[in-house]
Amino acid sequence: MTDLRDIAIIGGGIMGCSAALRLAEGGMQPIVLDQGDLGQGASGVNAGTLSLQIKRVKLMPYALRGHHEWEAMGNAVGFRKTGGYTLAFNDREEALLHERQTLKAEAGAPISFVSNNALRDAEPHLTHAVKAASYCPEDGYANASLTGQYYRGRLQDRGIDYRERSPVKAIELSKTGFALNTPSGTIHATRLLLAAGAWLKPVAAMLGVNLPVNARINTVSVTERMPPLTSHVIGHATGLLTMKQKANGTVLVGGGWQGRGTPQEGRGEVTAATVIPNLALGQFALPDLGRARVLRSWTGFEANVPDFYPLAGGLPGVEDAFVLGCVRGGYTIGPYIGKLMGDAILGREPELPLFDPGRDFSKETI
Ligand SMILES: Cc1cc2nc3c(=O)[nH]c(=O)nc-3n(C[C@H](O)[C@H](O)[C@H](O)COP(=O)(O)OP(=O)(O)OC[C@H]3O[C@@H](n4cnc5c(N)ncnc54)[C@H](O)[C@@H]3O)c2cc1C
Repeated sequence: MTDLRDIAIIGGGIMGCSAALRLAEGGMQPIVLDQGDLGQGASGVNAGTLSLQIKRVKLMPYALRGHHEWEAMGNAVGFRKTGGYTLAFNDREEALLHERQTLKAEAGAPISFVSNNALRDAEPHLTHAVKAASYCPEDGYANASLTGQYYRGRLQDRGIDYRERSPVKAIELSKTGFALNTPSGTIHATRLLLAAGAWLKPVAAMLGVNLPVNARINTVSVTERMPPLTSHVIGHATGLLTMKQKANGTVLVGGGWQGRGTPQEGRGEVTAATVIPNLALGQFALPDLGRARVLRSWTGFEANVPDFYPLAGGLPGVEDAFVLGCVRGGYTIGPYIGKLMGDAILGREPELPLFDPGRDFSKETI
């Protein structure tokens, strides 16, 4: 007799795992499949910044609720609510900071502008060249390298079946729903959730669907342990810098600078042409960073669509298939949007609207 699952989830990143948990809570029996280990994709290699200040205005309600999810996960994911400062160094950046952060504050984020004196009291090691700064007490970070371990434990606790090193090679429509071809055999499921991150395009293509997903290759660097330099998450008005000093003294520097490579090749490459200006911006903000040796720089693949909003809803043209993924800052909203997606599949009204994967990406439809 065929072992028929209620739903097969392709992708064991933060999106797939959080949806799996919600679906199981709602009484379904999901199976999660990952081509590598759980959390080995973007969810396990990202900068871990949980900052409302770098999210898009329309995503503010999702990001705020995402923050509450992270708070609840707490120590197990290395969560720290440090508060965060976003800095502007010149008139143009100051105008940008004011425009963006005012809109986010109006959308419900507790963001305020702070004087240079207040900034200096809170962060004495920052450069004195700051022109303007905003502050959000909700900002913080988690440790992305704990994501896989955390969700593996949660899936096990819930009795959710998952298979690592199980790449889905082909998907066929069957009488009972979907038949997924994996090296360890065929998996049958009534429903399907594609949560394959930067690999969404080739996975959707297995069902003949062309999703407009492309991949960004973000770079992150970490320094050796340093004496205390900064105690908040530090960002830049342009979004080109995120920086935080971990409890062990290492400083993590990111900001979406691009490396080289494609998800299909399996590995991205760090390039000096982008790591150097990223670190230089970090050092400009925090001059003492210049004394730190960089231990490692790495890249990860982040899925993206033309309007930079999530995909969360039915896979166009394929009944009982769903897609969940994309969006800059997807780590922050992942645990929450996974729940929303789970609710929709369970036939419940999601608390906030989803993001139709079949929308017209050339128009402002969200
Ligand atoms: C370097 C970097 C830094 C970032 N920094 C931040 C940040 O500071 N804050 C923030 O909020 N966001 C950040 N992001 C974005 C965030 O990490 C992602 O938006 C989020 O983790 C995406 O989660 P996901 O589950 O959709 O994708 P992923 O975590 O990539 O999971 C997709 C999974 O699908 C699996 N898969 C793919 N194809 C198949 C297949 N055929 N069969 C089986 N499994 C398959 C992959 O192995 C992978 O594990 C960053 C991203 C990167 C890359």
